[in-house]
Amino acid sequence: MRIILLGPPGAGKGTQAELLSKKLGIPKISTGDLLRDEIAKGSELGIKAKKKVEKGELVDDELVFAILKNRIERDDCKKGYILDGFPRNVAQAERFYKMFNDQEELVIEISVSEDELVRRLTSRRICKKCGATYNLLFFKPRVENKCDVCGGELIRRDDDREEVIRKRFRVYEKETKPLINYYYKKGNYFRVAGDADINEIFNRIYAIIKSNMRRFAERKSDYL
Ligand code: AMP
Repeated sequence: MRIILLGPPGAGKGTQAELLSKKLGIPKISTGDLLRDEIAKGSELGIKAKKKVEKGELVDDELVFAILKNRIERDDCKKGYILDGFPRNVAQAERFYKMFNDQEELVIEISVSEDELVRRLTSRRICKKCGATYNLLFFKPRVENKCDVCGGELIRRDDDREEVIRKRFRVYEKETKPLINYYYKKGNYFRVAGDADINEIFNRIYAIIKSNMRRFAERKSDYL
């Protein structure tokens, strides 16, 4: 099963994708992480993507699809995967379904207000070495400025400054929000309020997944 997490930047998609990945045993794929890896490596693709990421604008589809295809075609995605940060607009969704239309799918939106997002994202820190995410408001590292997982230095993402956050939110409203209607019509869209703590949001999401897994299994047995 494929799970798509929708929601504005800072809604907690990455954190929830990580928890779901552990619980369900399927990988999490974040196009933002994949792009940041390429930028850190200084690859040709990374160099092309860098300016747009820094400004909070969407990276060209050619680049996004190139890294995404590469990742989804790996063996660990055969049983399913969780998408975080993709698709970002209806055009990406439609192009995606022409390439990968082989899995049951659930789309879950985590909704949060703009001011709450600014508050959260300006407090977000990521590990320079392994990419683990922390938040100084509600998910602090055990030792100040040090990653719990690998001991790496914690830094602020370049695009987690207030003016860029507000810009990313505008991009979300304009480009990504129409996807909600798109999936609503497809009949596989669910929404959870993202204004609770991490575990509570996880429980809300997992309840949706469990009940749909049952439905998918029943549907499959109808064909047997
Ligand atoms: P994220 O980590 O999902 O907030 O993404 C960080 C940045 O990476 C975005 O602001 C975009 O510049 C770029 N990005 C991530 N995913 C996509 C995508 N699916 N399409 C275009 N740009 C993307």
